Amino acid sequence: MLLLLKPDITPVEIEHLTRRLAWMGLQAVPSHDEGRYALAVVHGENNQVRAEQFKSLPGIEAVLPFAQKYKLVSSTAKKQRTLIRIGDKIIGAENQVTVMAGPCSIESFEQIETTAAEVARAGGAVLRGGAFKPRTSPYEFQGLGEQGLQYMQAAARKHNLLTITEVMSLEQIDLVASYIDILQIGARNMQNFNLLKAVAKAGKPVLLKRGQAATYNEFLLAAEYILSAGNAQVMLCERGIRTFENYTRNTLDIAAVPVLQALSHLPVIIDPSHGVGIRQFVPALARAAVAAGADGVIIEIHPDPDKALSDGPQSLTLPQFTEMMQTLRKVAQAVDKQIVK
Ligand code: PEP
Ligand code: MN
Repeated sequence: MLLLLKPDITPVEIEHLTRRLAWMGLQAVPSHDEGRYALAVVHGENNQVRAEQFKSLPGIEAVLPFAQKYKLVSSTAKKQRTLIRIGDKIIGAENQVTVMAGPCSIESFEQIETTAAEVARAGGAVLRGGAFKPRTSPYEFQGLGEQGLQYMQAAARKHNLLTITEVMSLEQIDLVASYIDILQIGARNMQNFNLLKAVAKAGKPVLLKRGQAATYNEFLLAAEYILSAGNAQVMLCERGIRTFENYTRNTLDIAAVPVLQALSHLPVIIDPSHGVGIRQFVPALARAAVAAGADGVIIEIHPDPDKALSDGPQSLTLPQFTEMMQTLRKVAQAVDKQIVK
């Protein structure tokens, strides 16, 4: 339910109403949009509520049911787009595009530092790199762990970049959060609900990747876990889905940009690298993402992709990345956007 509050309601009355709802066993999340206050009321399956219950409460003008199971992530609950704030940087602002780039895996200080220098020089804002890697085979490189986090933090600080890395399990959350700005939940863990609830509590923004076979509804419900656990700083990342096509690694679903932006107020980030899996096609898909209105892109790049310990075939070389950034800027300009650092 969304409770639209009367325009003249005071903050004290809202507080009073929130407490009353809590007493009824309901969680009320306030929002303030276009000059109007609203409360999104969340309830569990065993706590069904009816619109009539609210109509008689003071301060309420209208009661709107949610059309979907997800509530806090929905654009019904909040009209204004969510901005991700990290220090003095913002992700998700209107007319802005954030570029995140870096290797699939952090391999050495030299590798991540060389990459960071290029990301910063070319106009990227966030350095990516995996320290705990979800590899399909147990015999493949699993990541440098804490050592990798230390390397990435040092490289990012040197070049004034934010950082993002994947957290795969509950035990890794505090360690990763102590070094890194944005916590990534990988496609394979999109429906690891305990991980979603725990990562929400780390006090850091979360980039949630779409599962390989997840519908928009399942994706948004996964994000709802994080918001309902108290963390509204969430980005949705489309990274390709499984289809019958097997020439490319996955099928990048560009429709996810306008669809998710219509269904939700959360920023939408596109990962063309995992989306297509072939280096040659990554720049075109990054341009398509920006043209479609994505809030950002996340790109795998490597100083020597042929020697990369993971995802080399889809990683751009550093010069290819810089060239891609130049064309990305033109596309951004054509749709009234700007790539921001
Ligand atoms: C990655 O970002 O390197 C990664 C493993 O992504 P995904 O979870 O989308 O496969
Ligand atoms: Mn990868």
